[in-house]
Amino acid sequence: MAPHSHLKDLDYSVVQQCMHCGLCLPTCPTYDATKVERNSPRGRISLMRAIADGQLEATKTFADEMYFCLGCLACQTACPAGVNYAELFEHARAEAEQSGTLDSPKRSCIRGFTLRWLFMDLRRLRFVSRVVRLYQRLGVQSLVRRSGILKLFPRRLRELEAMTPEIQSRFSAELIAPLTPAAGQKKFRVAMLTGCAQDPIFSNVNRDTVEVLARNGCEVWTPPAQSCCGSLHAHNGEWVLAQALARRNIDQFPPAEFDAIITNAGGCGSHLKHFAKLLADDPNYRDRAKLWDKKVKDIHEWLMEIGLQSLPSEADRRVGPTVVTYHDSCHLCHGQKITVQPRQLLRTIPGLKLVDLPESSWCCGSAGIYNLTQPEMANELLRRKLAHIKSTGAQVVATANPGCLLQIINGARAEGIPLRVVHPVTLLAEAYRNESTPT
Ligand code: SF4
Ligand code: SF4
Repeated sequence: MAPHSHLKDLDYSVVQQCMHCGLCLPTCPTYDATKVERNSPRGRISLMRAIADGQLEATKTFADEMYFCLGCLACQTACPAGVNYAELFEHARAEAEQSGTLDSPKRSCIRGFTLRWLFMDLRRLRFVSRVVRLYQRLGVQSLVRRSGILKLFPRRLRELEAMTPEIQSRFSAELIAPLTPAAGQKKFRVAMLTGCAQDPIFSNVNRDTVEVLARNGCEVWTPPAQSCCGSLHAHNGEWVLAQALARRNIDQFPPAEFDAIITNAGGCGSHLKHFAKLLADDPNYRDRAKLWDKKVKDIHEWLMEIGLQSLPSEADRRVGPTVVTYHDSCHLCHGQKITVQPRQLLRTIPGLKLVDLPESSWCCGSAGIYNLTQPEMANELLRRKLAHIKSTGAQVVATANPGCLLQIINGARAEGIPLRVVHPVTLLAEAYRNESTPT
């Protein structure tokens, strides 16, 4: 029997949608950087189709190309033919993994540790995060950095050390009760996903999200035992693991029991809304996955849908406005088409002046783990993003994805730019807290 091929088995109507018009080319960051057709959406889709048609083998060149793609989905927004690049991309990376052309002991070790071990059980991730927190809190990290010992290590290792995120002193389960009642009249019952990396690095954003939901009439269920959504796995060719995590999420949050299942991470939301496709061949989960997709809501989308609780008017503020700009996370804007709601949310906050960010939907280079695997391209994109941020004169950048938050925080720190980088929901939670604090 011929081995299973992700691209050959993919619905051919998805594979053959591209009409080669090239309208997506100017929106593609990798094509913009190289001007090489192979690095463009059209070029990549041609390679995928050639494999689906049996005219090309999944070679190392093909696999490298699929990993040079950011998966930012800017091409999907630009495409007039409605090409489903997200689906093609996931299957192409799975095909690349299946071919084994990128395999090496080091790569297998890293993927085994992260994708197959660390992110498959979040207790392990929390354990590792606690070890990193000790390293940071006991002063070992600053000692290591000051001692100059890092100069003895390869450049790549030094770069990775500099990117280590600051681990929060308390994780989501220590900040948020499993059940938070609605403030005032209960209108909705929602579940809140605390995420994988989001939990140790941005548990404060999860706490702010729950506070904002409660303030807007939602009873919020946040069970401490949660699982990764699997987007990391789906985007890195681990299809079977992504399916296993989708099933686990559905079991942990039965969609019929909630009005909405809330995510505050753009990258996760984009994946969470497509469990029905992922589990289409599973008769035990197919129907629940369809309901799940309908119930998953990005936090901005949900708040605008239910009508945001008003705040004191702009005239009531006592200090001058803080200039804030907004960076669109790729998977929130291109994956979920959510661009208006975060800006609406920011405009409701008294004391903030929202200014446009040039190229706000151009990838910042984070792209999941792209900044770890393709540092040169990621750094080029980060420099471009920071230059635009500086041009706005903003003191605050709001963005709604942990990867983008980290990428811009690290970039601003490295360039010495005094910038506060926050999730929009944090700004809203602060405004609600200020409102209830007597002056
Ligand atoms: S996903 Fe982004 S990087 Fe990849 S082809 Fe599309 S626009 Fe280019
Ligand atoms: S992906 Fe869409 S925009 Fe790009 S070449 Fe194909 S049809 Fe045209």
